[in-house]
Order: sequence, then C-alpha cells, then structure tokens
Amino acid sequence: MDHTKINLIVRLQHIDNQIESIMSLQKGLPEEIAALDEDLAFTARQIEARKKIAEEHLKLRERLNATINDCKEKIRSFKEKQTLARNNKEYDALSKQIEYEEKEIAQAEIKLQDISHAEHHAQELQKKGRDLISENRYDEISEEMMPDDVLHQQLEDLSSQLNMKKEELDSIVIETAEEVEQLRKTLHEQRTIVTREAKRLLDKYDHLKSGTMQNAVVKLDRHACSGCNTRVPTNRHTLIVQGGFYVCESCGRIVVHERLFDEAATGKS
Ligand SMILES: [Zn+2]
Repeated sequence: MDHTKINLIVRLQHIDNQIESIMSLQKGLPEEIAALDEDLAFTARQIEARKKIAEEHLKLRERLNATINDCKEKIRSFKEKQTLARNNKEYDALSKQIEYEEKEIAQAEIKLQDISHAEHHAQELQKKGRDLISENRYDEISEEMMPDDVLHQQLEDLSSQLNMKKEELDSIVIETAEEVEQLRKTLHEQRTIVTREAKRLLDKYDHLKSGTMQNAVVKLDRHACSGCNTRVPTNRHTLIVQGGFYVCESCGRIVVHERLFDEAATGKS
C-alpha cells in the first residue's frame, strides 16, 4: 500500500495544528474585545441619551422663561394703557388681553413644573439605583436607575479595559505575525502538493474541517480514535501501525499512528 498520500495529509494537519496553537495564544481576546466594545457602545448611548434630554430641557426652559418675560412685558404695557383708557369698552378689551397673557404665563409655568418633575423623578430613580448598588442588588437596577457618575465611571473603566485588551492582542499578533505568515505560506504549498497527489483525501479533509471539527486527522490513542475516543477495531491496528489510516466509524475522522505526526513534525514525509 502506498502510504505517501496519508503522510501528505498528516503534514497538512500538522501545519494546521501549528497555526491553531499560535492562534490559541490569543486566549479568546478577540471575543473579549468584541464584548467590551458592545458594552462600551451601550454605556455611551445611555450617556448620550441623558445628555440629549438635559439639553432639550435647558432649551425648553429658556424658551418658556422668555415667553413668560414676554407676557409680563405685554401685561405691563396693557396696564399702562388701561390708565389711559378713554372708556369702559377700551378698558375691558385691555383686561381681556391681560387675561390672555396671564393664561399664557400659567401654561408656561405648568410646563416648567413638568420639566422639574421629570428631572426630580430621574434623580429619585438614580438615588434608588445608588441604594441598590450599595446593597449589591445589581440585577434589580434598571437602565434609568444607574447614577450618572457610576455610568461615567463605567464608561471610563470599560474603555481602559478595552484598550488594555487591544494592546495585549496587538502585541501577540505582532509577536506571532511572522511565524503565522510563514506557516500560512507552508500550508498553501502543502495544499498545492496534496491537491496534486491526494485530491480525494484532501476533499475528505476539507469536508471534515468545514464543520465545527478542528482536527480532521488524529492519532490513534490507546486503541481509540483520539478525536472522539471510540475504540478502533483490533483488526485495523496493524494497518495503522504500518502507516495506513482508518476512518473512524463514529466521527469520521482520519485516524493514523502517532509516528506519522512525529514524522510530519520533523519534516520526514
Ligand atoms: Zn472518532
């Protein structure tokens, strides 16, 4: 039996394993960074929304106060005109105008009160949030209960954590970049050879790896497939020892003797 083909595919797996082991140095950092990024964006959005409400309140207050001043000015002028009124009809007409302006003032004052109430309510909620925090009852805190200062602190903490993780990842990536690039090149070359020499095995390999399976070719370990721990029938052991391969009945992986991996590592194949 020609075992060259299987050696070629073991070598491919060996290179893949090397790349994988370098990638595992990143220790889930990319996922952690993505999660932190999401939390940071969420916190920033909360802060932004509060800022927007505060700005709207400020604008509305300014407008309402201007209206009130305007109305007061008009009332003053109407009252002055009343002292000069030539008859009751003129006087009453001015009284009606004053009444109208007074209603406008009253309406504006109600709106100002509404703003104050809304702000007071928001502060009360934050106070409740602060109490819950001091009791460690974090899961009971709603978004609006989060005190402003805690939210800002959270933003700061998240962004410094994010920066730290990013720097950590960057340094790993930089440190390993050259090695990974070299391995990817080697992998590409090996694939070219395998495509030429053992296309069917490569198709099987790629098919196995297209799922969640990390390793398509595994070692025989204590008479079992080391991918899924299913025992390999005794009558196949000889073939495996001789350098052949066995397709695991349970997981479909290609099972070979560990010697083949050693050979792939030393570049004998
Ligand atoms: Zn298996």
